[in-house]
Amino acid sequence: MLGLRGRMALVALAASFGALVAVLLLAGPRLREQAMKQARDGLLAEARLMARVVAEPMSRGIADAALDATVDAAAREIRARATIVARDGRVAADSALSGAELQAVDNHGTRPEVIEALQRGVGVSVRPSATVSRTLLYAAVPINHDGRTLGVARVALSLDGVEAEARALQQAILAAAALAFVIAAALSALLSAPLVGPLREIMQKAREFAAGHLDARIAVDRRDELGELARILNLSSERLRERLEENARDRARTDAILSAMEDGVLAVDARGVVVVANRALQAGLGLESPLGRHYLEVIRQPEVGAVIEHVLRSGERRQEEVEIQRLRRAYALSGVSFPGPAGQAPGAVLTFHDVTERRRLDRIRRDFVANASHELRTPLTSIRGFVEALEDGALQDEQNAGRFLGKIRTHADRMATLVEDLLELSRLESGQQAPVLDEVPCAEVADDVVASFAALAARKPVSLVHEDRGAPPVVTDADRLRRIVEALVDNAVKYTPENGHVIVRTRPGEAGAAVVEVEDDGPGIAAEHLPRIFERFYRVDKARSRELGGTGLGLSIVKHLAEGMGGSVAVASEPGRGSCFSVTLPGRATTRA
Ligand code: ADP
Repeated sequence: MLGLRGRMALVALAASFGALVAVLLLAGPRLREQAMKQARDGLLAEARLMARVVAEPMSRGIADAALDATVDAAAREIRARATIVARDGRVAADSALSGAELQAVDNHGTRPEVIEALQRGVGVSVRPSATVSRTLLYAAVPINHDGRTLGVARVALSLDGVEAEARALQQAILAAAALAFVIAAALSALLSAPLVGPLREIMQKAREFAAGHLDARIAVDRRDELGELARILNLSSERLRERLEENARDRARTDAILSAMEDGVLAVDARGVVVVANRALQAGLGLESPLGRHYLEVIRQPEVGAVIEHVLRSGERRQEEVEIQRLRRAYALSGVSFPGPAGQAPGAVLTFHDVTERRRLDRIRRDFVANASHELRTPLTSIRGFVEALEDGALQDEQNAGRFLGKIRTHADRMATLVEDLLELSRLESGQQAPVLDEVPCAEVADDVVASFAALAARKPVSLVHEDRGAPPVVTDADRLRRIVEALVDNAVKYTPENGHVIVRTRPGEAGAAVVEVEDDGPGIAAEHLPRIFERFYRVDKARSRELGGTGLGLSIVKHLAEGMGGSVAVASEPGRGSCFSVTLPGRATTRA
């Protein structure tokens, strides 16, 4: 490939070469013509002169020899061959011939220039000379004297001279053109040289721009078109850099928003290829590098696919709740169309709002209402039964009447306990009562509770002791802590069979925390029940719990109380080996103010 400089030189050379050829083609033939015309005019003038010179002697009938001498003398002056042809065509004199040669020369009456001169007064012809065997230019004029035509005076000139002159002229022009050619080449090289450096610089920097180095700058400071080009390129790269930075900022902002969102966001293009999948979506659905793959490879949930397809096909908004069995999670999907790149069909963007918790709470609420009604209905049914029995005559039967009234009282008490527990739970859940925080010595609380349950435990009998391992004092609500320990001791005493052992242990926990444990060697709880033991109304053995006056709300209240103070409860239990419930109360540093 020729560079710009090479091309400029080539153009200059071609132009000067073209000019040269044009000069040669146009001027060459004309130069020759011009030379011929000049030669012809000169010859004609000389022929006329010759005619004038010989007219008078010829009219006097001068002898041919004398005439020839006159012609020879005149021809020497004009350095051309002169011939005098008599009216009858006989050659009367010739500057190139004399004597016998002149006598032998053939009749010239038929020579074209002679005939032409006699007919038109001027005759010119170019032809090889029969006499001197060279191409000659002939000019002939009639010799007139006193109105008579005595013959023809002819002057001939070899064309060699004319040709030589024309050639010399042509060569001069050729030399001039060649010189112009060389000058043009030199000038083009000279003029293009200062452009090469800046052009290279511009090209180099333009290449860097193309490779993405938009900080590069073209250092060409000129006032011509190259300088302007450099400025335009610099400006373009600056603008492009600004635009890219703006795009990057927008993108970072969008990414930050997307990754801060708790809802999952999935966007697919018109072909269904995933273009956006935020962190929440990837973590929630356990997706691994979903970008650039078809959504079907990534999310194998037909319901999700149906929403995507609907939006892609119709461009309409679609909302649906979908349960992903594999993850045991439920999502509220909302799909809308979003514009694709120019010239492409729109894609679809879906948000995944996790409604698992909401569904769980709904279920808990439903279950709670059902459970609470059920729990209340049982004693109510019993009460109504006993009342009806009393009405039907048992009232008169003193022994039975007393027993029935006793039963009614028991069931009414159960209902009251249940309602109390429900109210307590509802108060705790609504957060109406803030805990009253104070520095509480756990061991004292444990001692009090053990003392208050001593009679009940002794009646069973079950041994109940407090094992003090030096729990640090913690800032908590003393009343709530007491209720927690009471509930746990109540359960332990209740479920532990006769001659069992219940230990209330107070000990230090991690990071300044205090732990209160209530351990028994009762029936224990099977592992499958442990995760649900703190749920409302959850009971391992319903009949036994009811028989013992339980409501199934005790542990649920314990959990709420503990968590309300920033603490936690846990249980460790094995069927047949007893249970250990522990309450951890955080140390001062971590206690809520
Ligand atoms: P309840 O009023 O029935 O005692 P809780 O919420 O206090 O309700 O306890 C829930 C269930 O946990 C009980 O029904 C019982 O089955 C089981 N449970 C609680 N404490 C113990 C324990 N110390 N030993 C064995 N089972 C227990």
